[in-house]
Amino acid sequence: MSEIISIPALAGRALDAAIGVPANRGARRADGRRLARRCEALGAAIAAAVSAGTARLSSVPMSRIYDISLAIAPGLPTWPTSEGFRTRWAMRIDQGDSANVSVLEADVHTGTHVESALHFIADGEPIERTPIERFVGPAVVVEIEGDEVAAAALERARSSGGIPEGTTRLLVKTKNSERWARGWGAFDPVYVALTRDASEWIAASGIELVGLDHLSIQRYGDDGETHRVLMRAGVTILEGLNLAGVAPGMYTLVAAPLKLVGTEAAPARALLIDQAP
Ligand SMILES: [Zn+2]
Repeated sequence: MSEIISIPALAGRALDAAIGVPANRGARRADGRRLARRCEALGAAIAAAVSAGTARLSSVPMSRIYDISLAIAPGLPTWPTSEGFRTRWAMRIDQGDSANVSVLEADVHTGTHVESALHFIADGEPIERTPIERFVGPAVVVEIEGDEVAAAALERARSSGGIPEGTTRLLVKTKNSERWARGWGAFDPVYVALTRDASEWIAASGIELVGLDHLSIQRYGDDGETHRVLMRAGVTILEGLNLAGVAPGMYTLVAAPLKLVGTEAAPARALLIDQAP
């Protein structure tokens, strides 16, 4: 049978537990009433502040969220051999339909996307086999200057603390991000990407996910080996990031792909959460 107890009595018990010494019954009830009134007043004040908009209840307090995804909209460049993407209206309220409904047709490498081994290895794993934990968790943003991302630059970043020991998710920011910020325009084969030896460095370093701020992690015209080295090592690839305005450092990455089955890639919405101390 459950016990029915008054709020002041309950507060009195909480008071006993908090101070560790049970007071006499009368004093405990009186203190309990005061505590209950204060709790009620505090609750009312919080509710009023939230409804007035002067306070906000958030599941991620004291944090900033960076959306590092590319917008899927006209003007987004796509790979020269890609079928690209199209959206069209299937139903329109202003045409007499009961609802607005869009259709999306897209290369799964459109904009920000993740890739699994099936992309460059004939019997590699499809994207749904990549553990979802891979896409959520601590991530390091490192900035690499110059026209390419080579192993030597990554090694220098590691030596100087830009890639801490134990990093498992690495996002490489290059001058590509400035171009995304300005609006890239049509596809341009001149962009910053990983060299093959950078892939080998990453594959040997314990990194499980690598991201880059271009549609491909490999240079235009390179063979697929830059991808294959990573894929053979079980490294997941996140492409099409825009890291403009994101400072190098540690963040929490959330970049879950669409739950497509049997494909070699899937679009993702990539976010970085900067948790203030
Ligand atoms: Zn790729």
